[in-house]
Amino acid sequence: MRLTPRVRLVGSGRAGAGLSNPYDCHVYLIDGGGPLALIDAGAGLEPERILDNVRAGGRDPADIATIALTHAHADHAGGAAALRQATGAEVLAPGDAAGWLADADEEAVSLPAARRGGTYPADYRLPPCPGAASIGDGDVIPVGDLRLRTIATPGHAAAHVSFLLDGDDRRGLFGGDVVFHGGTVLLLSTPDCSIQALGKSLRRLHALDFEALYPGHAGISRRCGRRHLDAALREFDAQRVPRNYYA
Ligand SMILES: [Zn+2]
Repeated sequence: MRLTPRVRLVGSGRAGAGLSNPYDCHVYLIDGGGPLALIDAGAGLEPERILDNVRAGGRDPADIATIALTHAHADHAGGAAALRQATGAEVLAPGDAAGWLADADEEAVSLPAARRGGTYPADYRLPPCPGAASIGDGDVIPVGDLRLRTIATPGHAAAHVSFLLDGDDRRGLFGGDVVFHGGTVLLLSTPDCSIQALGKSLRRLHALDFEALYPGHAGISRRCGRRHLDAALREFDAQRVPRNYYA
């Protein structure tokens, strides 16, 4: 699904457009005019559907040079190993999450509890993704003639980043699970979720210049992305908790 000249949606689960496996987050393809990048990787249950969507858009998965993950929750990162194997891309993950993925550290990403709670199938496992490299605040990831700037945005998870895309016909923010349509957020009862950190991250994003908001789930905003961030910040300004978005 084409979103802008340089951004396509190639994966999306039951909380989105239903383009790939129901457990997948939104997976975005960035076209750098040669090399390609994926933002997030889905759950890994049917990675071939994501690759089929890349091909359906006229692009060759072998040109995917980078898989940049916003965080290591399984719906975003579980597909990294299979997509890396299929494409040869380098997998980038925020901070300690790179090591968790390399070692398939399910506890670190709160997967056993999520599995027990029915968020994932009982037989779902996080596959190890050897060679995943760590990225952090300020890192710039080149994608052909485009640039992705990494912004640390802890809150939904401690190891969480967003990516600001420069070089498309508009600036876009890939926010992972930091903020959603209508100013909703996704606060979890996981040990590393922090509402205070989330508020600070949203204020940080507010200071950036961007137009499109490409979240990890639900509604995508190609032109008016800031209004969703503004709506969440109004709640923080009033010392309230924004409404939670439930997939
Ligand atoms: Zn998440």
